[in-house]
Amino acid sequence: MKSNKAVIKVMKPKTEAKTAEGSIAPLITELLAKLGEDPTRDGLVRTPVRVDKALRFLTSGYEGNIDKILNGALYDVKYDEMVVVKDIEFFSMCEHHMLPFFGKMHVAYLPQKKVIGLSKIPRIVDMFARRLQIQERLTQEVAETIRDVVQPLGVGVICEARHFCMMMRGVEKQHSGAMTSAMLGAFRDRKETRDEFMALVNHRGNGY
Ligand SMILES: [Zn+2]
Repeated sequence: MKSNKAVIKVMKPKTEAKTAEGSIAPLITELLAKLGEDPTRDGLVRTPVRVDKALRFLTSGYEGNIDKILNGALYDVKYDEMVVVKDIEFFSMCEHHMLPFFGKMHVAYLPQKKVIGLSKIPRIVDMFARRLQIQERLTQEVAETIRDVVQPLGVGVICEARHFCMMMRGVEKQHSGAMTSAMLGAFRDRKETRDEFMALVNHRGNGY
């Protein structure tokens, strides 16, 4: 697999993937053989390199840096109404099967003194989604990060997702979805705040 080197260099120029030792491509070749495939056949020859590249992208959230994402987009305001960003699409991978789970996240917070640039919220979601995850932790991590960064009166996150490990194997329930939520501060303590969030999220039907 000598030819992997250049391709991997493009993916992650600064890390160990640069070197052949850092590449997971040889493991994928071995995996294909163990699955009874012929890793040398035409369609599979470059698969290990592609899988390496894909997996590195899908787990690139480990290297995410919150300060870099924010890039100063934190603003002092007098606004004290709920901020809601809903239907944030995400794609993640379950840590139990390394199969995708995907769906939508709805994020809300009650500003105290500061607001965050709206476009930063989906980027925070991506940072945590692009890791091996379980839906519960993903939901919690997004909520806690927004709490820590914005220091609002409260944060609410609702996550609706479908899991390939349920859809393709195991129970094989193609249409079952999982919902998780994380409510911090005012969203935990005050039913009216939670209800307002729910009403805004359910304002129009969601597909998941
Ligand atoms: Zn799973």
